[in-house]
Amino acid sequence: MYLIILGPPGAGKGTQSILIAEKMGLKHLSTGEILRKAVTDGTPLGLKAKEVMDSGNLVSDEIMVGIIKDAISDDIARKGFILDGFPRTIEQARELDKIMDSLGYNSAKVINITLDDEELVRRMLGRGRKDDTEETIKNRLKVYKDQTAPVKEHYSSKSAVFDIYGIGSISEINDKILEVLQ
Ligand code: ADP
Repeated sequence: MYLIILGPPGAGKGTQSILIAEKMGLKHLSTGEILRKAVTDGTPLGLKAKEVMDSGNLVSDEIMVGIIKDAISDDIARKGFILDGFPRTIEQARELDKIMDSLGYNSAKVINITLDDEELVRRMLGRGRKDDTEETIKNRLKVYKDQTAPVKEHYSSKSAVFDIYGIGSISEINDKILEVLQ
């Protein structure tokens, strides 16, 4: 089984993905984490990605698809995984379909976390990550609306898409997600 968690920046995708992965025995694949590690380690990828991430823009589809191809081995596909932070564009979603088709899997389950902008901004400012300045946050929300929100439509015709409202305690939201996945 493979799950995709969608939603705006600051919605709690990372927190929920980790919990879902633990409870369902899935591998958690976070592109944000992969990129941040590359930046910390100073790898060529990290050097390329740093500025883009700091401005709140998206790393190129080509780079991201390469990362995902490397991350989804046969073994991980067989065991099941949850994708957090990917796909973030329609093009990435199309490429993911191809990867999963070639591995013999065709249908994802999609969790879409929704939250109002005000609450998103509040949470992002609160977590104090380096790319969470007021200006960057504004840009990330715009990029989300322009490029990532349409990804949900890519899935609604062929996959189960579950909308989850992201207000409540971490465990309440987690319960809601586990319930729809039953
Ligand atoms: P957030 O917690 O705000 O949702 P992430 O930790 O998932 O953010 O990602 C941080 C940054 O890494 C993004 O703002 C973006 O620049 C880059 N990034 C992560 N995943 C992708 C992707 N699939 N495509 C392009 N850029 C990405």
